[in-house]
Amino acid sequence: MSNFFNSSDDTFIPNIDDIDDIDNEIEEPEPSRKTASVWNYVNCKDPSHPEVPVCKTCSYVFSIKSENSSIKRHLLSKHCIVIQKVRKQTTLKFKCKDPWPEKEKLERDDAVVTWVIADQQPFSVVEKKNFIKIMNVFNFRYKVPDRHQIKEKVVQEFNK
Ligand SMILES: [Zn+2]
Repeated sequence: MSNFFNSSDDTFIPNIDDIDDIDNEIEEPEPSRKTASVWNYVNCKDPSHPEVPVCKTCSYVFSIKSENSSIKRHLLSKHCIVIQKVRKQTTLKFKCKDPWPEKEKLERDDAVVTWVIADQQPFSVVEKKNFIKIMNVFNFRYKVPDRHQIKEKVVQEFNK
């Protein structure tokens, strides 16, 4: 009888392992998204210095007015920790989530092509960071073609 229970226990163990693996996979993206924040390296709830940022690495107490930039400078110069500019850098790339269907995308491509032609913009304008920033702000579902694609579209437009 006890043998029966033992063998059934054994069959459960691999299942529990599987569940653990799944949990790990779900949890992993969370911290990596936050690693770019200074608040990973700075404690604002230090009991001896409440409401003042304190470096978690060397316990350096920042002034209450310290801005992110001065904290970043400290982390870089004292601990070689590079804090990425999360917001600024992510806007350099298209955040294109849930992209438009082809038809909707083409309508927008046409508008960009018209603008490039009419206002004599260089093809490379579509790869300029501020242009990408604008597009991301206005609509993250639209991924602007790169300069080669835009050039091709402009040529097509002239051949119409
Ligand atoms: Zn420090």
